[in-house]
Amino acid sequence: MWRIRIHGRGGQGIKTASQILGSAGFYSGFQAQDFPLYGAERRGAPVIAFTRVSEDPILERGPISSPDIILIGDETLLNDPQSAPLCGAEPSTVVFVNSAQVPEVLSQKFSVTTTNLTDLCFQYLNHRTVYSSALSAVGARLLGNIELECLLRAVEDELIQQGISSQLLQGNLDLAREIFEMIQPVAVSQREEKGLTAKPLVFPSQLPVVDGAPIILDPGNMALRKTGNWRVERPEIDYEKCNNCLICYARCPDGVIGVAPDGRPEIDYDHCKGCLICALECPGHFIHTVKETGTFP
Ligand code: SF4
Ligand code: SF4
Repeated sequence: MWRIRIHGRGGQGIKTASQILGSAGFYSGFQAQDFPLYGAERRGAPVIAFTRVSEDPILERGPISSPDIILIGDETLLNDPQSAPLCGAEPSTVVFVNSAQVPEVLSQKFSVTTTNLTDLCFQYLNHRTVYSSALSAVGARLLGNIELECLLRAVEDELIQQGISSQLLQGNLDLAREIFEMIQPVAVSQREEKGLTAKPLVFPSQLPVVDGAPIILDPGNMALRKTGNWRVERPEIDYEKCNNCLICYARCPDGVIGVAPDGRPEIDYDHCKGCLICALECPGHFIHTVKETGTFP
């Protein structure tokens, strides 16, 4: 069995990537299983998805703690302790990072492949952060036992179910094909089965709803949740041109643009989650965007 874990952020198509990879494996004659894991948070929050592909029936369930392949759609997650994408990786684990640079710090420990998927997605989809086809193509190619035709069939089937336009579907197919032909397959070793045995049923005791439900009881603690690390692209105000109209201040849905004593808008980067609505709303287009990187020293 091959176990693949995919890391990214809400809105990047991580769940769909695991579905496409599972379907591509199934169309190639394997058994397949795929599912995501994420909380109740919004676009930008860390997301994990899992795919198992096997020649035999898959009896294993639950999250993959020791993957054979890790696909990381957003390199900034490497610095995120909540995501911890390298958790459970071993020297034999094949790690892929969507990055323009080779992370030497990782290649000393793992078999690492990188490609700048962000630029390729922009080229084919006119969008920088939708990685469903791109990451599934990387995974299929790294596995080395999935045919290109099966991958493209899976991309088509999964994206048509999502109501995608024919033009965008063609862009996804072309993107998947280019990435599949660009990535070099790696000999991914299958882990030995770990002698799974059924455990006795456990009946957890139920807490009262106030203790057991995911609700925040302390007032005024929103500032402690630093959503700035969800950001994929950072808005930067061009103060040479900004005329202090403060439309960005009014439009920011998270209220993280404040007003400095001299009347200038100021972005609180600890909490700006990178929706880029401010850049769209600025009448003079004086807010430009910069991709967040800097994970590697
Ligand atoms: S990108 Fe702009 S609008 Fe969005 S949260 Fe950040 S400052 Fe607010
Ligand atoms: S909307 Fe644009 S011009 Fe107006 S304050 Fe914001 S950055 Fe400046």
